[in-house]
Amino acid sequence: MTTAPLLPAAARPHAHHAVRIGDVLFGGGAVPVIAGPCAVEPTYPEQVGAIAAAGASVLRGCVHKPRTRPDSFQGLGAEGYPLLDAARAATGLPVLSEPLEVGDVERLGPHCDAFLIGARSMQNTPLLREVGRALHPVILKRGLAATYDEWLGAAEYVLAGGNDQLILCERGIRTFETATRNTLDVAAIPVLRERTGLPVIVDPSHAAGQRAWVAPLAMAAIAAGADGLIVECHPDPAASWSDAAQAISPEQLRAIVDAVEFLSAATRSAELGSLSDCREGIDQVDAAIARLLERRAGLVAAAQSHKGERPRRDGEREARIARRVAARAPRLGPAGAEVVMQAIIESCLAAAGEMEAAHR
Ligand code: PEP
Ligand code: MN
Repeated sequence: MTTAPLLPAAARPHAHHAVRIGDVLFGGGAVPVIAGPCAVEPTYPEQVGAIAAAGASVLRGCVHKPRTRPDSFQGLGAEGYPLLDAARAATGLPVLSEPLEVGDVERLGPHCDAFLIGARSMQNTPLLREVGRALHPVILKRGLAATYDEWLGAAEYVLAGGNDQLILCERGIRTFETATRNTLDVAAIPVLRERTGLPVIVDPSHAAGQRAWVAPLAMAAIAAGADGLIVECHPDPAASWSDAAQAISPEQLRAIVDAVEFLSAATRSAELGSLSDCREGIDQVDAAIARLLERRAGLVAAAQSHKGERPRRDGEREARIARRVAARAPRLGPAGAEVVMQAIIESCLAAAGEMEAAHR
């Protein structure tokens, strides 16, 4: 097994190099979610409102579709370009789109903010060279049955053209399993992040093939260190013109975005960057703490209902809680832990008391 970097030194970007799509940073502190329908449909400019409101950071806007069969919907093609402009104007979000052939790169460029190279195009070397010369960032999907080595060979074509704004995307590979559309290779995330320093994102939709399995695969990806997600989302999933079975609703997207925010805040190590990076990190941690506080308040209320009438305080237990917190948060120290936990304990008990009062 080789552990050496697969990209030659000349082609390798700097260690943990971040890539920006519009104002959205991949490989920085936050973990953005790209979302949109599989294919742009005529009502796309109306559809994206709900998708943006559900927390998407970048919109999927694919008008040229690589389909397995010629009688499947092939995308709106150039007729869809004004819809991309309208979606961008309506939401203010950057748009990602897939060129299928070399000429699409120049034609699509003014209507999108980043190029997606689909799994079927991963070894289309003229197309790779063309996006390598372009100024837009590129998301390079792994081929349907490509090894890491082959995938990184494709990455080298883009980098060799001078475009180092490159993100890799694991979207599941062909295995003997047929229950899922593809098998998500979670290991690709740590391995390729380590070997290339490039951001690695995950497409759980094309791995799952079924909407119910998109969220669990997305969570696995974040836990494994993914720098972002790309998911198929449609305001009326079952009516999607393409890939309806795996499309999620905006409500399901919101749940994924919230869970990504929580999981990434809980598992990423603190980045000590600029003041604004620090503040962004603080906001993410506060959002995670808020979610845990909400859960704690619910548990306290449930515990109170077991104890009966009046909330009884247990000083011994409260001291134990403060000591446990102090051990895990040495920066706070025992005094800080005590102050914080007293405030939390009292607020939760007060909330439980109010809930009980409301039920009487
Ligand atoms: C897509 O993302 O639109 C797509 C066709 O997926 P893949 O290239 O991964 O099959
Ligand atoms: Mn699709």
